[in-house]
Amino acid sequence: MTTALIVGAGPAGASAALALLPLGFDVTVLERRPGLAPRVCGAFLGPEALAHLDRMGMGAHVRAKGVLVRYAGVSVGGGEERTVNFPVPGLALPRPELERILLDAVKERGGSLRWGVSGKPAGPTAVSVQGPGLTPSDPPVFCADHVIWADGRFSGQESIASDSGVPAWYGWNATFSGVNQVPGGMSLYFLPDGYLGLLTFKDGTSNLCGLKRRRGNPLEWGTVFNESKTQSPSLDRRMKHAALLSSWRGVGPLPFTGGLRADDGLFRVGDAAAVGDPFMGEGIGRALGTGPLVTHSFRRNTGRADDLSREIRDLWRKAYGRRFRLGNGIRGVFNHPRISQLFLRCLLAHPPIARILLPIFNRLP
Ligand SMILES: Cc1cc2nc3c(=O)[nH]c(=O)nc-3n(C[C@H](O)[C@H](O)[C@H](O)COP(=O)(O)OP(=O)(O)OC[C@H]3O[C@@H](n4cnc5c(N)ncnc54)[C@H](O)[C@@H]3O)c2cc1C
Repeated sequence: MTTALIVGAGPAGASAALALLPLGFDVTVLERRPGLAPRVCGAFLGPEALAHLDRMGMGAHVRAKGVLVRYAGVSVGGGEERTVNFPVPGLALPRPELERILLDAVKERGGSLRWGVSGKPAGPTAVSVQGPGLTPSDPPVFCADHVIWADGRFSGQESIASDSGVPAWYGWNATFSGVNQVPGGMSLYFLPDGYLGLLTFKDGTSNLCGLKRRRGNPLEWGTVFNESKTQSPSLDRRMKHAALLSSWRGVGPLPFTGGLRADDGLFRVGDAAAVGDPFMGEGIGRALGTGPLVTHSFRRNTGRADDLSREIRDLWRKAYGRRFRLGNGIRGVFNHPRISQLFLRCLLAHPPIARILLPIFNRLP
């Protein structure tokens, strides 16, 4: 039986595993976290993510656990919220719920999952492992016929890059109860130095997730939250009776890429291959789109790791290259507070432009 090791149990790793299992592969997924837990994410599943989940046979399950998101209230620079209707609805689903559904499917369909095992490249088909999830009988290096790197945005880095003195983007979030917003409600607040998304789940709890651009070390997120409320009266109104249910989580500096990372011969998927701005709410959709790319690469080329890597890079470029570049251009606008506020006001004043842009970022390749 052909063996595959997948490093990372996020949506890209799960999607790769679910693509290889029906092809008869013996699949093991390594995940450095000890188990499922909340993480920094907006928790919005766009139409592309939902279409991939339908294809994987999980659409009904996720829709039952989540709630449809049909519109967003958008506020720019502290102004009043204006409603933007989505041409196709998305879904609000807590991130651990999504991962539970995906990873249960991996196990039910015959894959194995090793929590608490961190992997580092040790050659094209070898992974050097460490972590509390290892047993005394495990070797220090795991080998397989194929290794797929689905280890997220910091793929291959020992740790998060330290402060380099240049302005950089940081992501942060927390869970609240008592937010003045109905389940399925979404509000977006664009402020001069970042933006926030507030999404309310089926059970009435809400995820507040932000991106902040700044110079220097990561911030105290409670302070950022309070400053954001001062900058935006409509956010303040929504959060008036809200109670913090979780600790604050933060991550960064975020290593956005203009396209695919440089080719090092490793088979990388999801954020490990390319990191886009969360603004378009499409990262999970692209990660879940890993399965079809993996299936095509293996069908067309069952040979050496570097051939497979080249193959999947070509497929990725065809599927995502143009819209990723467009998204990257829009992200560049966010580095300039004044221009971004003008750009967003223009979008809000001319809804047809938003109606053209939204589907570009959330359509199936
Ligand atoms: C602030 C913020 C908000 C976002 N909001 C949204 C949103 O609302 N909707 C959306 O579609 N996208 C959103 N995104 C983007 C989305 O989270 C990512 O694009 C998506 O999670 C990528 O999936 P992935 O599987 O490639 O990587 P990840 O989800 O990052 O998964 C990688 C996995 O690999 C594991 N791992 C890492 N290193 C190792 C190692 N060495 N060994 C073993 N395991 C390892 C990690 O623990 C993790 O579980 C957001 C991103 C940010 C930063």
